[in-house]
Amino acid sequence: MVYVSVRGRIWLQAEAANMVESVGNYVKHRRVPVVIRDGGKYVTFFVPSISGESVAHTYQTLLAEELKKQQVKVCSYCEKGIFLKSTRGDLYKEVTKSEPPRLGEKAKAAELMAAVDAIESNIVKSCGVEDVGGFLYAENPNVKRTSNFLTGYMVPVKEVLSAVSIEPQLHSRYALGTKFVAPEEGAAGQMIYYVEVSSAVFSFAFDLDTKYIGKYTFHIEKYGTPIISQDEITRRAGASLDALGRLLIEFPVGAKRTRFNPADVRWESIAIAVSNDAWTMPSSFVKDYSERAAAKKGKVNYNTVIHAYTEEGCHADRCYGTPEEAIINSIIDAKGRIK
Ligand SMILES: [Zn+2]
Repeated sequence: MVYVSVRGRIWLQAEAANMVESVGNYVKHRRVPVVIRDGGKYVTFFVPSISGESVAHTYQTLLAEELKKQQVKVCSYCEKGIFLKSTRGDLYKEVTKSEPPRLGEKAKAAELMAAVDAIESNIVKSCGVEDVGGFLYAENPNVKRTSNFLTGYMVPVKEVLSAVSIEPQLHSRYALGTKFVAPEEGAAGQMIYYVEVSSAVFSFAFDLDTKYIGKYTFHIEKYGTPIISQDEITRRAGASLDALGRLLIEFPVGAKRTRFNPADVRWESIAIAVSNDAWTMPSSFVKDYSERAAAKKGKVNYNTVIHAYTEEGCHADRCYGTPEEAIINSIIDAKGRIK
């Protein structure tokens, strides 16, 4: 197995990557509260953010493509970026091409466990995205598979909190001079709308654990037993790493990228720890995360190698001149450890 833990700080200028609710013609940026200690007191900031769901959506879209390149099955929804994930019996039927197990009211324990095993294994075999990214089968019996990757909210880093702001930008759709605004059509010649835009250095976190890819995770007696061949597990783990590499290099996270593509998308710093067991990088919310990572590694490590790029002062095992070199070399390191 290999565990990859990514932390970084990324510049996103004039972005509208994660919008929530529109009120009339006003589209709001997602905001979250962040608390910091300022001298002897605590202060709350409401800051622009990008949700972990948004990051996960982007990752799984790339994952579907990489899995297909490795001849791994991906269901017809996940391959289109619609992550319904075998939630219901009818979806299960479409994904697995089989009838979902039905439990009678007087089902015995053995029948229950046979049903949950069938559900988890059939879904894992039928869709690599649901294997790596997890699913919740919400029928009877319930079967939950936890995602093999972890991510979360991107928020402006601590040092930028007092400088960050969100501004609504005015835009208009113009139709004057066309037949569509004739009085009998009743349409306005101009429609104005506002989109909130923000700029900041955002923290970023993503962990990938390949340990349970292609294996049972729900039925405790079968926990960790392979469902698919070792060869296919290796291909699925490799595809998960390739998708992570693409995510970090291109950073196609967020919506509205066709008209609100950030004016700057650039890693100020990024550190990728590759380990033989779960070893997470400290949070990049505070600037000294790479020093804290080095201190942590001094106490605990599982053959951990930290690959990093930073604009100033690198404390990693392997320091590179560009973020792309750090990313590519960490993925090569990780792929070498898949067994
Ligand atoms: Zn699927």
